[in-house]
Amino acid sequence: MSRIQSMKKYQCFIGGCWGEPASGDYFESVDPFLAKPWALIPRCDARDVDAAVAAARTAFDRGEWASMHPSRRGQLLRRLGELIARDADRLASVEVQDNGKLYAEMRGQLGYIPHWFDYFGGLADKIEGSVIPIDKPDMFTFTSHEPVGVVAAITPWNSPLLLATWKLAPALAAGCTIVVKPSEFTSASTLELMKLVDEAGFPAGVLNVVTGFGPEVGEPLTSHPGIDKIAFTGGEGSGRRVAHKAAQNFKRLTLELGGKSAQLVFPDADLDNAVKGVVSGIFAATGQTCIAGSRLLVHDSIHNEFLDKFIELASTARMGDPMSAETQVGPITTQPQYQRVLSCIEMARAEGAECVLGGKPAARPECGDGWFIEPTVFANVSNSMRIAQEEVFGPVLSVIGFREDDEAYALANDSPYGLAAGVWTNDQRRAFTAAKRLRAGTIWTNTYRAVSYMAPFGGFKNSGIGREGGQEAIQEYLETKCVWMFYGKDVSNPFVMR
Ligand code: NDP
Repeated sequence: MSRIQSMKKYQCFIGGCWGEPASGDYFESVDPFLAKPWALIPRCDARDVDAAVAAARTAFDRGEWASMHPSRRGQLLRRLGELIARDADRLASVEVQDNGKLYAEMRGQLGYIPHWFDYFGGLADKIEGSVIPIDKPDMFTFTSHEPVGVVAAITPWNSPLLLATWKLAPALAAGCTIVVKPSEFTSASTLELMKLVDEAGFPAGVLNVVTGFGPEVGEPLTSHPGIDKIAFTGGEGSGRRVAHKAAQNFKRLTLELGGKSAQLVFPDADLDNAVKGVVSGIFAATGQTCIAGSRLLVHDSIHNEFLDKFIELASTARMGDPMSAETQVGPITTQPQYQRVLSCIEMARAEGAECVLGGKPAARPECGDGWFIEPTVFANVSNSMRIAQEEVFGPVLSVIGFREDDEAYALANDSPYGLAAGVWTNDQRRAFTAAKRLRAGTIWTNTYRAVSYMAPFGGFKNSGIGREGGQEAIQEYLETKCVWMFYGKDVSNPFVMR
């Protein structure tokens, strides 16, 4: 698989047209494996945001999209899915170039993304209201569900197209129009996607992309009065700022934020499977996933045996070029994130946690100049340490022992986050009890990192608001309207409530 050698220059996509940003400026997107720039991305600002919101507003308020039958909307969504499937190899390569994740992982995501467009395309013409057998005479009362309006979709750098899809597919199916703002670090694949949106035949203005930096593009977008709803995936701090902006004119809001998910390993578990599941939870995608299982809670009676097996497997992880099929752990996506992971490792050491694996940059020849960090494990962690409470977003696992099941649930829940949890047990009663007791949006039992277009995904507590995926997701892009129709003869006393 050859890497792209020449600098590629992208344009922004507003109102169905490709063009220069208002500033005329561009910034570099850097390949995390080569640590070298490979593409130029338009540096948009508030002027481009205004233009994109105006285009999305026009498309929503009048014209072809506004009057399009939902069945046709569904067809367009499915067509887009087909085009993504056709171009999956190329799009996956662009993702790897931008975010350094394994080609195998990104190709897997690209192969799966079309299912979202297929599934939500199918739902587009099944958005039904209901008739209410209302308790008033001569009154016909019904509900309809209407698109919420113009959506700002803001995405992070770790899985740009997958996480954009989680927003675009249900929002388009609902009939919304969208302005997308990808992460400054990984904008290329979203712009590539717009070529397919164009080819699929979506009317102008239905989808628009503004690229650039959080303060220059994200803030004007989230505070724009023409935006009705914000769908945001990113860190907790940015999510809080976005929520503040949304509150100014009560924009609807979906937030998919971070996590500090626990993996609970009970003594009756199949240890070999649990080892693989915990390795996958923290070292796949180099730990740069919101669902990273970054806290291992393991029963004292199997603690040492489990840790030995775990370290044995984690030590064999092959690092290197993410485009290579042999590689299992790729680089950290951004230079600032690389520094942050290293500072979290130092913080854990300073807190007294014992580093039993890794704990340093990977100085392996196959890692070249990339931002690599060795898979890292800290033992003897107390759940109150910052390393156990704060999201690292990198390949760093904290190991915490427990004696009783109740203690394990309490430790797992003692976190500001509640995105996911893994439970490893062969005892059915324990599995159901854990599923009930753990406060997180997703509970995986004897598996980890499974997601589907059919399943709702989202967080409890500081991990977010709302759900993406499954039939619940489309509700996030709809408003309910209740219509009352009086068919009686005489309007009654106007001075009392009906
Ligand atoms: P950030 O929060 O830094 O950025 C996310 C997006 O928000 C980027 O497009 C960013 O732009 C933009 N942004 C930043 N500041 C603002 C602002 N004030 N107003 C509007 N937009 C803004 O997250 P990362 O990109 O660093 O991604 C990592 C984070 O994402 C992790 O915390 C992770 O847990 C979370 N995440 C959550 C998932 C979930 O489903 N729960 C899934 C994946 C990741 P720019 O890049 O230009 O700063």
